[in-house]
Amino acid sequence: MVFIRPAEGTITQYFKKGTHNGIDIAKSGTVPILAAALGTVTKSYNSDSYGEVVFIKHVINGVQYETVYAHMAERSRTVSVGQNVSVGQRLGYMGSTGWSTGQHLHFEVHKPSWNSSKSYAVNPLDYINSGGGGGTEGPGTVIGEPQPEYAGRTKNGRIGTATTIVSTLNVRNSPSTSGRIIRTLSLGSTAWIYKLSGEWYCIGTNNGEEEWISNENRAHANVRWYDLKSGRIGEGSVKVSLLNVRYSPTETGELSRKIGNGTSFYVYKESGYWLCIGTKDGREEWIANPNNEYANVTWY
Ligand SMILES: [Zn+2]
Repeated sequence: MVFIRPAEGTITQYFKKGTHNGIDIAKSGTVPILAAALGTVTKSYNSDSYGEVVFIKHVINGVQYETVYAHMAERSRTVSVGQNVSVGQRLGYMGSTGWSTGQHLHFEVHKPSWNSSKSYAVNPLDYINSGGGGGTEGPGTVIGEPQPEYAGRTKNGRIGTATTIVSTLNVRNSPSTSGRIIRTLSLGSTAWIYKLSGEWYCIGTNNGEEEWISNENRAHANVRWYDLKSGRIGEGSVKVSLLNVRYSPTETGELSRKIGNGTSFYVYKESGYWLCIGTKDGREEWIANPNNEYANVTWY
């Protein structure tokens, strides 16, 4: 998985290279359009054809992509050129501006970047975590469907993460719409998944009560299933110009190297605000991330 699904809705038109260089996702009402991954806005304007549109450049595991979000609602764009966006950040709302006959998102993925002939367009469904595609590309090993053998694991048995793609998602005390609502999750918030009951996910406990969210038809959250074999607990990318990598989790630890803005890494373990990002020549490598100031991290 490289990208999250950028909007709720039904896929009404699929990718066909040369004739339809993206996918269409349609839903009525107020539908947020979300950044499919961490990146930098390269265009944000009102195009004759694309309508209200945002382009985002991404570097994921050293591979460059550019994503396009077209036909957004008039004056709904919330980002501007040069701005860094996080995964799931709202870019605007679904609309029907430009060459469009009804409300939908036209979403394109280009590898490495967009050009006017769209010769680098690839099928977005091969890169997003629901609705099809390979499901094993990109940072972390992500499995496209829930793994039934993981059901019932709790405590450290996190089996995945859910990132909310609706404005409000009810958290209930049982896996049923008759369960009492304990609290709500807002758009873009991420929760660990501990076990499954059909299309309900247990996201932990609250005052001794289990907390459950519904993700029927994958309409409420983007899901990432953690590969328990890899030993990784998360992944992230550097958001400062240079970050020291040290051989031990302390400010006086010997310097191994420096990594630059946008560098992706996996997280294998934690020590306070220090993250172990792997080993080099048999020695552990650590970076500091106090108050999440130096890196964006997604926990599995
Ligand atoms: Zn389209």
